[in-house]
Amino acid sequence: MKKEAAIFVAGHRGMVGSAIVRALQSDGYNNLLTRSREQLDLLDQQAVAKYLSEQKPDYIFLAAAKVGGIQANDTYRAEFLHQNLVLQTNIIHGAHLAGVNRLMFLGSSCIYPRDCPQPIKEEYLLTGPLEPTNEPYALAKISGLKMCESYQKQYGRRYISVMPTNLYGPNDNYDLANSHVLPALIRKAHEAGRRGDRDLVVWGSGRPRREFLHVDDLAEACVYLMKKDYDGPPLNIGCGQDVTIRELAEMVMEVTGFKGNIVFDSSKPDGTPRKLLDVSRLADLGWTAKTCLRDGIKQAYLAAPFYSAP
Ligand code: GDP
Repeated sequence: MKKEAAIFVAGHRGMVGSAIVRALQSDGYNNLLTRSREQLDLLDQQAVAKYLSEQKPDYIFLAAAKVGGIQANDTYRAEFLHQNLVLQTNIIHGAHLAGVNRLMFLGSSCIYPRDCPQPIKEEYLLTGPLEPTNEPYALAKISGLKMCESYQKQYGRRYISVMPTNLYGPNDNYDLANSHVLPALIRKAHEAGRRGDRDLVVWGSGRPRREFLHVDDLAEACVYLMKKDYDGPPLNIGCGQDVTIRELAEMVMEVTGFKGNIVFDSSKPDGTPRKLLDVSRLADLGWTAKTCLRDGIKQAYLAAPFYSAP
């Protein structure tokens, strides 16, 4: 990837896209193409095709997506399926029509079967039923991955996919109803501490296990793979370690200084029992995650929009 290459980062205002922009910039790439939602509606097929055929980027990072936590995925099932299918199709097909040869599609670890063996190897994809709470999102992401694979096989396009595990970091969504567990717990513990509450309410049983990766680590891995000219099969990106939701809540309490009790709300779903990616393929390619979870949580807390020094 030459330093002057034209690189389109779709979704550059989101947590993942903004991290990819930071990683590229700090690596000396300065011909970055970005479009805000107001400038380019990614759901508009004609507008996307026109933009891509005019700009003809050398590389595309497809980080735009409608995302959310377990409750958002389960509630807005139609939007998660529709918007993700449309925007990723517009970009992948539009890129092909515009003659773009290099594209990276950001998938997700939730595309794997709900009850597959752990840690999850890339080849477990499509070997069993999906977790019902995020099936629409997962189906859209599986389609994106298969689309990249198909354009690669049929047309020789070098469109690759990566499957990041649960992410957190700057520009995360801290909305309590729609966010993922880690930003939700950081905000809840912070607010509980400020209000002097006795309890921190944690959804579900606290028993599910999840793996968390700092988004700057993910962005570094994405840029690393593009620079390496990787064009093999879809790749997991994670840190290779998981924790229970209870352990996560305890860590968040330590970082935020909230000293109350954990109370589990069993009216909320647990979702997949465990989600830990096997990252040995990525390790064989020479990349491993750097940020330890406790340090990452602290960093995220200090950068959160609601944080102010006590
Ligand atoms: P998932 O990884 O797709 O299941 O999505 P989430 O990150 O939203 O949830 C992960 C796990 O954390 C689930 O078992 C949730 O029930 C649990 N959890 C505990 N407290 C919360 C919370 O306040 N918000 C969210 N989103 N999940 C929570």
